[in-house]
Amino acid sequence: MEQTDLSKYARQTVLPGIGIEGQRRLLASHAAIIGCGTLGCVIADQLCRAGVGRLTILDRDLVEPGNLQRQVLFDRADAEARLPKAEAALERLGEINSDVRVRALVADLRPSNAEALLFDDKFGRPEVILDGTDNFETRFLLNDLCVKHAVPYVYAGVVGTRAMRAVFRAQGCCLRCVFDRPPAPGSQPTCETAGVLAPAAAMIGAMQAAEAIKLLVGAEVAMDLVEIDAWGGLLRRVDLSRSRDPDCPCCAQRRFEFLEGPDPEAAALCGRNAVQVMPGPQGTPGRLDLESLAGSWRTVGTVSRSAFMVRVEPYEQAGVTVSVFRDGRAVIEGVEDPSRARAIYARYVGA
Ligand SMILES: [Zn+2]
Repeated sequence: MEQTDLSKYARQTVLPGIGIEGQRRLLASHAAIIGCGTLGCVIADQLCRAGVGRLTILDRDLVEPGNLQRQVLFDRADAEARLPKAEAALERLGEINSDVRVRALVADLRPSNAEALLFDDKFGRPEVILDGTDNFETRFLLNDLCVKHAVPYVYAGVVGTRAMRAVFRAQGCCLRCVFDRPPAPGSQPTCETAGVLAPAAAMIGAMQAAEAIKLLVGAEVAMDLVEIDAWGGLLRRVDLSRSRDPDCPCCAQRRFEFLEGPDPEAAALCGRNAVQVMPGPQGTPGRLDLESLAGSWRTVGTVSRSAFMVRVEPYEQAGVTVSVFRDGRAVIEGVEDPSRARAIYARYVGA
């Protein structure tokens, strides 16, 4: 393999915590970013520029104009084409740093596919998993996955002007030691109801990237939770060094209730006037032939295509758009009722 020119990382290698040796470790390492929205864009941009040699970017959704206020990897053309976020990120990151191999996964992480997507693959096992998700369901799934496979989990959340981050790993506590269960639906403010101040996301995403870099170079990482309020300019640190729950169902009893639980069914995407529809159990990654699906739709409606998806706007369904990905999953826009979305899926994609 040809030697990478390290001079472009000079501002980073001069840092005592990184050095030339740390830079070599970064180039040889693999980080997985789950969710490429507000936080995921910031993390992916910074880890790519830092020279983390392999990046897995997993996201289930499409770029839309309302994302551009805060999702820094995307531009107007991505939103106009409504590209899958992971696909748009792959293109952008490739322009930033050719030392980095990026793997885009246009998928929804769920119990039945999580281990196959992240741990059973030629791309190699991730050494750190970063949380760019927007829902607790996926976070508890990630926590199970990270505890089971002993991979550090860099958790974060952002709502309104406030955000928090923590690093959960085998030496300390896990997400369930601290939060126990996902909050009941509707009990917490969400990005849809409370908005997001982009600087709050940028700050906490940057802190996640910093923790990942520290983990990957083998530096000391504190067991704490940091909360910020970007509007008030406040930062608070909570010590987690004694937060390990000796009865934690996940890290103490090693019961992985979220990883071993059922897959969620068709679900409305928060605030999107869109529904995500899963394929049946036979739908596995790489199964769907997008080319032939596009061909079969030629007389059905207006068809468009990208490397990772095919889309139809059926003539008979005014205002409805069906975007289908290789794993058979679809995002149906212009629909809020999951059963109507399932019917549309059955009609245009198949049962
Ligand atoms: Zn625990």
